Amino acid sequence: MHSSGWGSSERLDWASAVLDQAFEFSSASDYCIFIQHLVNSDRTVAEPWERVVAHADMDAFYASVEQLDDPKLRGRPVIVGPRSKRGVVLTASYEARPFGVGSAMPMVKALRLCPDAIVVPPRFERYTELSARIMAVFEDFSPDVEPLSLDEAFLDMTGSEHLFGPPRRMGEKIKAAIKEATGGLTASVGLSQTKYVAKVASGYQKPDGLTVVPKEDAVNWLAPQSVARLWGAGPKTQARLYALGYQTIGDIAGADLEKLQTTLGSLGNHLFELANARDPRRIEGHRVARSMGCDRTLNEDVSANEDILLYLRRSADHIARRLRRKNYLAGGVRVRLKTTEFKLLTRQCTLAEPTDVAQVLYAGAQKMLDRFDHPGPFRLVGLAAHSLEGADESRQLGLLDAGSARALEVTLDRLAERFGDNVIRRARDITQTTVVDQTPDLDFLRS
Ligand SMILES: [Mg+2]
Repeated sequence: MHSSGWGSSERLDWASAVLDQAFEFSSASDYCIFIQHLVNSDRTVAEPWERVVAHADMDAFYASVEQLDDPKLRGRPVIVGPRSKRGVVLTASYEARPFGVGSAMPMVKALRLCPDAIVVPPRFERYTELSARIMAVFEDFSPDVEPLSLDEAFLDMTGSEHLFGPPRRMGEKIKAAIKEATGGLTASVGLSQTKYVAKVASGYQKPDGLTVVPKEDAVNWLAPQSVARLWGAGPKTQARLYALGYQTIGDIAGADLEKLQTTLGSLGNHLFELANARDPRRIEGHRVARSMGCDRTLNEDVSANEDILLYLRRSADHIARRLRRKNYLAGGVRVRLKTTEFKLLTRQCTLAEPTDVAQVLYAGAQKMLDRFDHPGPFRLVGLAAHSLEGADESRQLGLLDAGSARALEVTLDRLAERFGDNVIRRARDITQTTVVDQTPDLDFLRS
């Protein structure tokens, strides 16, 4: 679904769901007080921009992944592409770029320029896997994400200053989250009030760059840059622009619009608008699938797997019951652990089939738990069901057939409805004394 953006109150709801990534609260009641404060405040923090557009782009993505996975490649010129002589360069590492090696260059030429380069054949499966993690990070920051390729996307960050701080802090947080989620890859991020300027800004200080261009600076900031940076100005157009005496974006911004239009047609108008930092295009994102979650801040830190599993089991029961109540199916699960240094670690997966069965959610969570390599201890254990979709009737029938686990859980739902949620406890829970303090449900849903 193409979105036209959420209203601010919806966005605030969404924002509250991810608040704990930006803030740390000493107790659940602090959290509630803070949310209350947010709702009551008129959301004026240092004059937020009318629109905030972020463009995030991984640095030399394929080559960086190869260097991440193979330490022997780090610090060395790496070219990702087929070893065949007729192939072209897909990505060159930053060590190879000073030799003049760039994407789409014939491999023969690249190796002539940089004979010491190590050529690595592409592993698209691995890039896709990391891309999914990167996109999941983007979706933690905005409900409106427009991916442009495996490794870059626009994020509509409008109205999220309360959550992530001013634009520069937003950029820092996006970069840090990507590094954490990928195990060390860097992204360059640009923030501005338009897509075009954000895109140019992300490329401005690569690699590992962060460039923020406020609206009032945009025209001057663009002015000294080459016309090659204008969207829609391919090599042919560039040559024409040079021939007409336009070298910089500023030359176009200050040009006679009629003259541009007669020589370049509608493209002239388009370039003139961009050069003047006018670009009304919206983020054409898919609405991020909603999620339903349950984070538990623990009274005592846990490290042992079996202790963590206990909380995941309990959360799975809780979430599955709410999924059934609201007639939703979850397409995936996400486990979050917060270290005692308040570092939030996340692992998530897609389930083979959408479900509202606790046992299935729990099995997925167990698998995710194996993928954390941090030894703990942890102060928070979180489970969320993501990629929610409405459970239509045919699907429901299929699920009823699917097994006794769901039938049992539905029976327990009825008991819980009659006698309250706490009437049913797993035997293990009753003997467990590490009492959990459950933070408010972090639903992205509005009931
Ligand atoms: Mg890139």
